[in-house]
Parts: sequence; C-alpha cells; structure tokens
Amino acid sequence: MKVGVISIQGDVSEHIEAVQRAGTSTSRSVEVVGVRTIEDLEKVDGLVMPGGESTTISKLLQRWGLHDRVVERASEGFPIMGTCAGCILLAKRGQGGIEEKGVKLLGLVDIGVDRNAYGRQVDSFEATSTLKGEPVHLVFIRAPMILDVGEGVEVLVEYDEKPVMVRQGNLLALTFHPELSTDSSVHSMFLDIVEDHSHR
Ligand code: GLN
Repeated sequence: MKVGVISIQGDVSEHIEAVQRAGTSTSRSVEVVGVRTIEDLEKVDGLVMPGGESTTISKLLQRWGLHDRVVERASEGFPIMGTCAGCILLAKRGQGGIEEKGVKLLGLVDIGVDRNAYGRQVDSFEATSTLKGEPVHLVFIRAPMILDVGEGVEVLVEYDEKPVMVRQGNLLALTFHPELSTDSSVHSMFLDIVEDHSHR
C-alpha cells in the first residue's frame, strides 16, 4: 500500500519515518511519499496530515488545490489521519479565531476544536493513556483541544477526561503527536484502516 504525508510544513519527516516503522513492525510492505500536488494525492491509498501551523498548512492546501480534492476523496471513504494541526483542519467546528486567521477547515470530522486551548496554559507536555486497552504515550505541543464530539464519532483515547483521539469512519483525528513516540500503535491502527479500505 502507498501512504502519503502532506508535505507543506511541520512534522513531515517524522511522520514518514513513523509510517515506515509501523509498516515494518506489522510486516507490511508500505511505501510512504510526500504529497504536494493533486497528482501526488491521486496515487496514495491513505493520507497523513501532520502537526505544524494550521494557518500555513491550510493556506497552501487551498492554494495548491488540495483542499477540495481531499474533501472529495474523504467523502468516498479515503482514509485520513490528522494530528494536532491536522486534527484542527479535519474538524467541522473551530473556536479561538481559527477562521479569522485564514484557516479553512476541511470540515470532515464531527468535532469542535479550540486551536490553542492547552497552549495558553502550558506549551508542551507528555502523558500516558490507553488505546484499546494498551498504554499509549502522548506528546502534546501547543495542542488543540477537542471540545465536543458528534454522534457517529468514536472516542479512542482520553486524557484528563477529554477526548484526544477520535475515529469517524476512515478518519482519525488526534490532538497529540504519535510520530514523536517510539510506540507505533497509532500509525499501525491507521495502516489497518488503509489496508481494509484498499481491499474493498
Ligand atoms: N496549535 C497549532 C496550530 O494552531 C498546532 C500545533 C501543532 O501542530 N503542534 O496550528
């Protein structure tokens, strides 16, 4: 299978390596490529939207024509994992002046987010929670907060009684940075989704 990582800004190389590690640890043959154009996007079976600066990423997604095509493909079941800034972009609802700053939400996952909810209190921190009963390491960097979750959205990881990783169909949205942990559970779960979808 072929997985793309939006290569505009942010944790691009870390995600490319994390997808490769998850492929190796689950004995899959996975090719990982950077996505900067619509042609790149058409060739991949799943997409990672990394953390970084949501304003910058959103403006370039719009300028390069990727915004609309990502929305179209997602509506056909195309798997996407958005982390941190990527989680903000996947959301349907944003608070904290997101749209005034030029961010155009993709509006795909039925959650509301506050862009810098933790950031105002503390810049970054680490924690541990559980994903499907197994421990998962959480790295938060100027993290957004998921404020509300709509009906068809499954909460997979919670921290401090709030959702920090959710799934809606083939879409995963998480406020932490799994690419900065050594454990591959989050990326492996995403590869499971990509594999299921590409066999359909
Ligand atoms: N809060 C940042 C933003 O608004 C996201 C931070 C991150 O991705 N590490 O873009």
